[in-house]
Amino acid sequence: MANAGSAEYVMAIDQGTTSTRAIIVDRSARVVSSGQLEHRQLFPRAGWVEHDAVEIWNSVREAVGIALSRAELSPHDIAAVGVTNQRETAVVWNRLTGRPVYNAIVWQDTRTQSIVDRLAGEAGVDRYKQIVGLPLATYFAGPKVAWILENVDGCREAAEAGELLFGTIDSWLLWNLTGGRDGGVHVTDVTNASRTLLMDLDTLSWREDIAAELGIPLSMLPSIRSSSEVYGTCSENGMLPGVPIAGILGDQQAAMFGQACFDEGMAKNTYGTGNFVLLNTGTKRVDSANGLLTTVCYQLGSAAPVYALEGSIAVTGSLVQWLRDNLGLINEASDIERLALSVDDNGGAYFVPAFSGLFAPHWRQDARGALLGLTRFVNRAHIARAALEATAFQTREVMEAMNADAGVELAELRVDGGMVANELLMQFQADQLGVDVIRPRVTETTALGAAFAAGIAIGFWKGTQEVADTWAEDARWSPTMPDGERDRLYRNWKKAVTKTMGWVD
Ligand code: ADP
Repeated sequence: MANAGSAEYVMAIDQGTTSTRAIIVDRSARVVSSGQLEHRQLFPRAGWVEHDAVEIWNSVREAVGIALSRAELSPHDIAAVGVTNQRETAVVWNRLTGRPVYNAIVWQDTRTQSIVDRLAGEAGVDRYKQIVGLPLATYFAGPKVAWILENVDGCREAAEAGELLFGTIDSWLLWNLTGGRDGGVHVTDVTNASRTLLMDLDTLSWREDIAAELGIPLSMLPSIRSSSEVYGTCSENGMLPGVPIAGILGDQQAAMFGQACFDEGMAKNTYGTGNFVLLNTGTKRVDSANGLLTTVCYQLGSAAPVYALEGSIAVTGSLVQWLRDNLGLINEASDIERLALSVDDNGGAYFVPAFSGLFAPHWRQDARGALLGLTRFVNRAHIARAALEATAFQTREVMEAMNADAGVELAELRVDGGMVANELLMQFQADQLGVDVIRPRVTETTALGAAFAAGIAIGFWKGTQEVADTWAEDARWSPTMPDGERDRLYRNWKKAVTKTMGWVD
């Protein structure tokens, strides 16, 4: 840990679904610099979503370079780096060439439906839920790896020969950051591993039987480590030579960390491409009876793991992108607020964005998107409003499931992510939930969480209490909508959701 003594900053690499960020923070958790680059979204067929893993790796290097140069800092000033990433997205690469054998298959991709159906068989989608905390669904990484092995020429043989490695994006980046073909480490952390369908939630180790069922050789899988420890040191490859990599968290777990949700019962909702509500359930895993996932929240070194209940919603911010890119309704994502504010209400329109089926709490792969309640009266502003309201309704469905599973009513909700800039949405969210919605001063919580995990591992911060003390409230929205109106809107929403189910045979 050459840098831990004198270096005054920690870096986080936040590799998200739509963009890659590198941020540099100081001891008071102030963001002193950042760099950000978007990468291409590849849609080769309906339902398929891919990223170029090499483009992602290059964008990481570039973002790190931008963040350093904007702050006029060098790698010597960085005590440690933490990595957080879009979860479930699967990369398979050749350890001899260092090249991916196929594009990264993104979490939203639904091509693995037949593999999932085969796996579920007679037992149904909850076949492994008791072990892995997840229902069988196209969302998770394991079936994506199976698809590559079954469909890309030569991969089965290369995998059997021990030449191929699998990783979620964290593993791919760590392997490259630590030297790639020249000694790169092949690791992942418990939070990312808990999204593969392959990890036992109690023992935190790979399940040989499930891997075998999917035809995935164990030699492809990374070692599972905690979320906060030194995994290796960056090589010359990585723009940060000599800097220890000391934190890995899947993006949603990183946001929990960055929101300082360290106590049992604390919850956050991140409004990005999709929405992800997580509730800290402490060192006990809580099994959901209401369509939520059980997942690892984080593990600090050799301490006991902390678990979470999660409500994952596939499409929220990406619906805003869709209105921008596919319909040309707006020029910028932020334009949606002004358009939606130009009308008083949704005009009777409800937009169920089941583009990848419905995730939590329904888990209906056979659903597809729909715009309902249309009359000649409905205009583009109503549609904009319906799109924003869809985010809030979906969140309410998940929060109701969470309250039922946890047996306690949540008193408030901490929020972050790109959409929380939208005040209309935040007010409507508070109205729908009936509790206060709170936005922190630093909304880059995902990156901040990865920085915290890395900094704690090397003693830059003393522990979770010290980082929790840096959390501060910025804005709060309280419910104001009359109950009758609140319930009427939500009833209509629920009716609209039922209409989207069963669309795909
Ligand atoms: P991710 O980390 O998943 O890539 P971000 O947290 O950066 O996502 O959030 C980006 C998302 O937020 C995009 O899908 C975008 O459409 C949406 N978004 C950004 N600004 C606004 C806004 N003012 N109102 C509504 N949605 C927004």
